[in-house]
Amino acid sequence: MFADTHCHLRCIEQNNTDIDGIIENAMEKKVSFVIDISTGLDDFLTRCDLVKRLSCMFPVDFYLSAGIPPYFAQKRTSRDMDVLREQCCADPRVVAVGECGLDYHHGYGTKDEQKSLFADQIGVADDIGLPVVVHSRDADDDLVGLLERRMPRCGAIIHCFSSGPEVACRLLDLGCTLSFAGNITYKRAEGVRETARMVQSDRYVIETDSPYLPPEGRRGTTNEPANVAIVASFIADIRGVCVEAVAQETMENAKRAFRLKSPRKSS
Ligand SMILES: [Zn+2]
Repeated sequence: MFADTHCHLRCIEQNNTDIDGIIENAMEKKVSFVIDISTGLDDFLTRCDLVKRLSCMFPVDFYLSAGIPPYFAQKRTSRDMDVLREQCCADPRVVAVGECGLDYHHGYGTKDEQKSLFADQIGVADDIGLPVVVHSRDADDDLVGLLERRMPRCGAIIHCFSSGPEVACRLLDLGCTLSFAGNITYKRAEGVRETARMVQSDRYVIETDSPYLPPEGRRGTTNEPANVAIVASFIADIRGVCVEAVAQETMENAKRAFRLKSPRKSS
């Protein structure tokens, strides 16, 4: 069974109205664990309702995160952290704060504005006792520096890891978990593949980031949780192990990284 630790179900639903069919596809590919990741505070209740409805319909373990991505660095309000705190406690399915982090590729606000939005959310995660899902783009040094000063108490999952072994080692030394997505199949992602080859078997998870980042061969289509199976078999080839081994270790790693003591049994 596979765990897609990072997707955006609400965005998939907006792209493709047949979200039930998308979950059926995922089940066909043996995906039994899905975390719906926040892209902002606004649609939290809609996401909760969606995940609740899907949980009733399908034998899949659905979880949620709550968080504020760096795109909001300039637009934050004084109430944001209070709202985030409320959302983290509003539903027992919330297992992480995020995605949050640094994105210098698009340059949302200033670097300092991004850093403070990120650090404040680490503070909320630490208070509540949740791990942090980290988005990082073109910001390796500042990310490592910030985490060196302020490593989240309950851990950090580096979503869609996109760098190479050197940055990976610094993050792993801090205790982070690396998450590999469909971009590992892209031609230019040699550093990501090298990292997947060397990472310890208990320090990585897999994800789709759907509807974004479809794997090679599916580019131009809407990505979906079923495609986490493609990421897993790609990593299995790189590591020279069978896909079942990758499925098993990434499922265990996901449960550990997101601190799930007794996830609901899926039959
Ligand atoms: Zn994402």
